[in-house]
Amino acid sequence: MIDLRSDTVTRPTDGMRTAIARAEVGDDVYGEDPSVTALEAEVAELFGHEAALFVPSGTMANQIALTTLLPPGSELLCDADAHIVTYEAGAAAAVGGISTRTVVGPSAGVLDVDAWLAQVRLPGYPGSPTTAAAVENSHMRGGGAVLPYDDLKRLRAGVPALHLDGARIWNASVASGVTFAEYGALFDTLSVCLSKGLGAPVGSLVVSTADRIAVARRRRHVLGGAMRQAGFLAAAGRYALAHHVDRLADDHERAHRLASALDSFVDPGTVRTNLVLLTVDDPAAVVRAAAEEGVLLSVFGPRTVRAMTHLDVDDEGLDRAIRVLSRVLG
Ligand SMILES: *Cc1c(COP(=O)(O)O)cnc(C)c1O
Repeated sequence: MIDLRSDTVTRPTDGMRTAIARAEVGDDVYGEDPSVTALEAEVAELFGHEAALFVPSGTMANQIALTTLLPPGSELLCDADAHIVTYEAGAAAAVGGISTRTVVGPSAGVLDVDAWLAQVRLPGYPGSPTTAAAVENSHMRGGGAVLPYDDLKRLRAGVPALHLDGARIWNASVASGVTFAEYGALFDTLSVCLSKGLGAPVGSLVVSTADRIAVARRRRHVLGGAMRQAGFLAAAGRYALAHHVDRLADDHERAHRLASALDSFVDPGTVRTNLVLLTVDDPAAVVRAAAEEGVLLSVFGPRTVRAMTHLDVDDEGLDRAIRVLSRVLG
């Protein structure tokens, strides 16, 4: 099977399994897990922030970060296709008491800064002033789009606080050449994910100031996300940071190659990272037919099929996927 459904499906490599097996661990609720502590310090430094917190999922990372910026009853501005409002089970409202105001952009993954700024409700606004905004980079529903750095900078200047859903900030940085520290400088809080393209089995981090991370640590406990010998997972994450970041360029090249071979269904020029959205008449039929020939894709919308490249798809696998999909779509 060539599994292109998501970049979450990767399994640990032999090197990662060795790192997991050898991890030094302790009780992280006591602050005694050296692997977790080291991972948190590494990631904070990478993004030029004071501190970071290891959490079980990207959803938890986003939602904990948001509660450190937005008190209950306040308003978050984000786009209508943001993961935060489309895949997180209403957590901003259910967990944080946060109301979300969504910007409907020209298309998902295009940051129309003027449209965002026009929707900011300034301090003193009698109902819900906009307390923070959140952006996603790369943008998943936007086909893995990379948001232009200058646009992000302009948005930063016009909002009281800014959160990054950086589940795939690794892909954005490799594609754009903007460093992690340059991205880090724009945001009050970031969430970053180790279990997408980086190929670790589990885990995300919240990145911010030491004060906010202290609050975040307490929130993680409230949500039941405080883990004990989590160093086994942190060790996988540290291995991924050391070995699996630069290679994302290969995933991007393969995604581009897939799109170029199927250019009646996607404009290859829109493929910046590891995600390809194919426009087809009957997504369910395409997914079924491809699966019968050993290629897994996901239904993504009424006329859209999603394919993602990742660590477990090599050139040979991609060539096979291209042959199968050319036949199925043709
Ligand atoms: C996957 C993802 C997350 C986090 O998802 P979890 O499944 O909770 O780890 C957050 N944002 C984006 C854009 C994602 O793709």
